[in-house]
Order: sequence, then C-alpha cells, then structure tokens
Amino acid sequence: MANTKAMVDFHVHTNCSDGLLSPDEVVRKAKEIGLAAIGIADHDSVDGIEEAIKTGDEIGIEVVPAVELSCLYNNNDIHVLGYYIDYKNPELLSFLESVQKKRLERAYKIVGKLSEQGINIDVERVLELSSGASVGRPHIAQALLEQGYVSSFNEAFWKFIGYHCPAYVPKMEINPQEGINLIKKFAGISILAHPGSYHKDDIVYALIAAGVEGIEVWHPEHSENSAEHYLEISQKNGLLITGGSDCHGGRKGKIFMGEIRVPYHYLSELKQKRFEK
Ligand code: AMP
Ligand code: ZN
Ligand code: FE
Ligand code: FE
Repeated sequence: MANTKAMVDFHVHTNCSDGLLSPDEVVRKAKEIGLAAIGIADHDSVDGIEEAIKTGDEIGIEVVPAVELSCLYNNNDIHVLGYYIDYKNPELLSFLESVQKKRLERAYKIVGKLSEQGINIDVERVLELSSGASVGRPHIAQALLEQGYVSSFNEAFWKFIGYHCPAYVPKMEINPQEGINLIKKFAGISILAHPGSYHKDDIVYALIAAGVEGIEVWHPEHSENSAEHYLEISQKNGLLITGGSDCHGGRKGKIFMGEIRVPYHYLSELKQKRFEK
C-alpha cells in the first residue's frame, strides 16, 4: 500500500550552486527531517545529482534529479525547473558549462561595478566561496558580508546586487520558451518555479502558452492565498503541481527544508507524466 504520509520537497539547492550544504549533507538533512524524497535543483547545474543519489540509495531517500534554469522574459528573471532531465547527457552538460562560464564572467562584472562605487571585494574570495560551482549573487553577498560592507545577506541584495540595484548584472539568459524546449529535448519535465516572486500573472500565462508542464504551487515566498491561486491555475489548465523549500542550506537565515512538505502523490503524478511521453 502506498504510504499516504510520505512527503516530498521538490526544490533544494546544494553547494554545486549557491547552497551551503553538499549534496550528501542535503540528503542526510532530508532524512533527519523525515522526508521521503527531495528534488536536487541547482541553478544551471546538475553536478550534485550523482552524489545525492548515492547517499539517497545508502540511507533510503528518493532523490529526484532536476535543474533550475534562469530564463529572461521581458527583463524578468524567470526560473524554470526541469525534473528527470537526462543529467548525464553530454550536450546538456556542455550547455550548462557554457552558462556557468557566463556566470563567472558576470561575477567579475559585478565585482567591477561594485568597485566603481568604492566597494572593494576580492573576486578571488568570491570564487573561493563558490568553490568551482555555478557562481551566483549569493556568493558575492557572502563576500560583501564578510568584508563588512553589509550587515546581512539580504542587505547585500537590496543595497547592491538585487534587480534594479547599481551593481546588478543580468545573466546570459535564454528565454522561457528556449528553457522549456531545452528541458523537453533532454527528457525533462518543465515546472515554473515560484511564480509568486514575479508578481505578474501574465508571466504565468505566457509560460503556460510556451508549454510549461506544471507550476510550483508551494514555496516559502508564497502566502496561503497565492498558493491557493496557483493551485487553481494549475488545476484549470491541467498542469502538474509541485512545491519546495528552495533550501539553500542556512544561507537565507534558516534552512527552510521541512517547511514545505508536499504529499507524495504529486511526485507520482509527475513520474506518471514522464512515462506518458
Ligand atoms: P543569481 O542566479 O546569481 O542571479 O542569484 C539568484 C539567487 O540569489 C536566488 O536563487 C536566491 O538564492 C538569491 N536571491 C535573489 N534575490 C535575493 C534577495 N532579494 N534576497 C536574498 N537572496 C536573494
Ligand atoms: Zn539560489
Ligand atoms: Fe529560483
Ligand atoms: Fe531555487
């Protein structure tokens, strides 16, 4: 009989992008918290998946391979998750490598923009903090914090590197249609991540028109009302439904893992869709 109490966190980061915990540590944490399955969804990287699966097999946690792609839509940074993407495919790996290279160039640009404003952080330290992973603004925020330019992680974003801030630099970004197509090309299932953070339903409908297969309904940035709203949109459009903590280790002040627990049947439905293809 299916375990009706089994719970899933579909959206977790590791230190292969901007999380603080290694894939092994993330999976052990999930076990401690009592989850049945977790989605490893690093930004523009699949590098943590193999290690996570290995630990998952050892300790009895189901690991769902995924990736979180950044896409650009009318100047909005839109994230699309790709579940069960063929994470060993050489063509996918070479695409992700090129994105990570752009991320590295962008990190240098952000550090340059900061220095024009008299904020001098050491790019070497940023690279050390990202330790060869998909480098992102959180690593820069951490360097700003360490060097005393800000007194909290969030302050780094609202003062310097958040959208519309003086040192913000966009990533090399594909558009959502390209992101969805890419996920499809590599046998993945595309899910629109945290729609509540874009504050605009026209984005959600544009993604649905572009062929996104599901919506991340539950997320720490969604109020109960907004989760209800996205649940309704998903159901009306016959879309898959997921939810996740978007855990980054303790980077955002707390771990978040465990706060969003999604009944396992939503994962079963996602898997079912995979086999219908
Ligand atoms: P990047 O992919 O380099 O643009 O960095 C995006 C990541 O930065 C997100 O996944 C979040 O983890 C983090 N982030 C973005 N905006 C904020 C914010 N306003 N406050 C805290 N963290 C943020
Ligand atoms: Zn992140
Ligand atoms: Fe995201
Ligand atoms: Fe995320």
